[in-house]
Amino acid sequence: MPKLKMPANLPDPIINENAKIVLNRRYQRKDTEGVVYETTKELFWRVASAIAEEESKYKKSSIKTADLAREFYDLMTSYNFLPNSPTLMNAGTDIGQLAACFVLPVEDDIEGIFDAVKHAAMIHKSGGGTGFSFSRLRAKDSVVGSTGGVASGPLSFLKIFNCATEQIKQGGTRRGANMGILRVDHPDIMDFIKAKERDGELNNFNLSIGLTESFMQAVEKKADFDLIAPNTGEPVGSLNARDVFNILVQKAWESGDPGIVFLDRINRDNPTPQLGEMESTNPCGEQPLLPYEACNLGSINLGKCFAKGTNGKDSEINWDELKRIIHLAVRFLDNVIDASQYPLPQITETVEMNRKIGLGVMGWADLLYQLKIPYNSQTAVDMGERVMKFVQDEARSASKTLAAERGHFPTYVESIFGEANLGPYRNATTTTIAPTGTLSIIAGCSSGVEPLFALSFVRNVMDNDKLVETNPFFEDAVKEADAYSGSLMEEIAKVGTIKKMKHLPEELRSVFVTSMDVEPIWHLKMQAAFQKHTDNAVSKTVNLPANATKEDIWDIYWKAYEYGCKGVTVYRDGSKTSQVLCTGDGD
Ligand code: UDP
Repeated sequence: MPKLKMPANLPDPIINENAKIVLNRRYQRKDTEGVVYETTKELFWRVASAIAEEESKYKKSSIKTADLAREFYDLMTSYNFLPNSPTLMNAGTDIGQLAACFVLPVEDDIEGIFDAVKHAAMIHKSGGGTGFSFSRLRAKDSVVGSTGGVASGPLSFLKIFNCATEQIKQGGTRRGANMGILRVDHPDIMDFIKAKERDGELNNFNLSIGLTESFMQAVEKKADFDLIAPNTGEPVGSLNARDVFNILVQKAWESGDPGIVFLDRINRDNPTPQLGEMESTNPCGEQPLLPYEACNLGSINLGKCFAKGTNGKDSEINWDELKRIIHLAVRFLDNVIDASQYPLPQITETVEMNRKIGLGVMGWADLLYQLKIPYNSQTAVDMGERVMKFVQDEARSASKTLAAERGHFPTYVESIFGEANLGPYRNATTTTIAPTGTLSIIAGCSSGVEPLFALSFVRNVMDNDKLVETNPFFEDAVKEADAYSGSLMEEIAKVGTIKKMKHLPEELRSVFVTSMDVEPIWHLKMQAAFQKHTDNAVSKTVNLPANATKEDIWDIYWKAYEYGCKGVTVYRDGSKTSQVLCTGDGD
């Protein structure tokens, strides 16, 4: 437990009603009887002080631990920045595992496969999510040398991972999430593409197909491509690339799965190619990692960085404040690496070699609402690119400052930064855009870089009362336009959007768009704009109405490739009875 005493004058955090429920249920410490004994103030102090205490081991740091703990406390309780859920849950506790993202290797032998099952169970228990590539497993019906029998193939093992996950609740709180990836040239690819066609099948997995550059070129040329046996490296058949792409699109249209990841692109940006290839990402796709690597994430709430124009000036982003937050957040996340206890020695070793962190953003839609810029506009896309470039430039500059104080990441010299003489940096990567499923509830902001889901909606509260909850920036704007009424809010709550409410002012209707109002092309353009200045990847779902066609999905997958995204996920309204495991609501 942290040693720093809580200052007597520490202010209580202000917690919104939804955050109270989430924090109480899953984040505040409980005794063996399950009774919560930690206040929210104690929670944030536990995290702030545990992360600040790491500072004292760096001799060159002139920052006083107690001052830093207070700064971290204020940073979190102002909701300017929050670290990923495992840090909030476990910092300063005996569990001490603080990272959200892990990738584990799956070797092509029984021992290797079941090692991975066991390691995933250990990670889920501590609150992390795991990604695996099943590409090394030999195809179904190939020969097993040691027994003379036949192999059962990646899919049969995937079911074992899924079942194991089902039984282990993360830290007694939320169910583990997994990513399963198979290279498109694996002989079992067609079975893998169809693996989730039945609702509820493999429900603890997101599946993605690992697409290669040569496959995408074959799709364009309507050419055949070779299937390669992973255990021999020999071609064992071929398929028409266009046919495979069509079935992939068909399945994604039916159920949202599989998504796609562009493996060559991910490896083109691998900062440490000398350590091998990245074959998988974490469960929601935003964090490609090497085998046995982990990464901790944290998100800045952009909605808080708005500066209202005065003296005739236009409203703007408060760049100075954003810069301050970025530098403090990078120090925080670098300290998290040291404070975290990883479940396996191989993970500790890989994490300490590369020291990856993933600083991202949330509240992007809230910021656009305040700036009165429609999400589905080129102005918003340009602004997204500008903001993320700023975040990345400042995060790298903060990482350089840390390198001067603490030394560069140990594999820096042979990394792409060392080779190009850029740096030295403290961290092999600094930026990632996470979904912020739970963090956005705690901070009371829009999630990640997504548009808002609904402007107003009805929430059922405990005694069966219904409360209409409205986005605060929308509420302010409606009042400003003199159009506010309780009945209007109830009307909006029924449909979520004001797109068709012609009696409302045009400016309101163009600025206050929701995810269903935003055409797929703008979802993708926004993802690509943020990806341009993100070291790792961007978590983004392209939401589609129920009547979207297969051609729409074809177009989205193809454009994601053309625009330089690292992967993409689609969700067609009503195509699944339950959403992917990323709402932070777990079970
Ligand atoms: N994650 C997980 N289980 C969950 C939600 C998230 O393992 O139920 C992991 C997963 O690696 C995901 C990452 O946490 O990609 C970040 O998700 P998110 O930003 O939604 O998490 P938060 O910190 O808001 O809880």
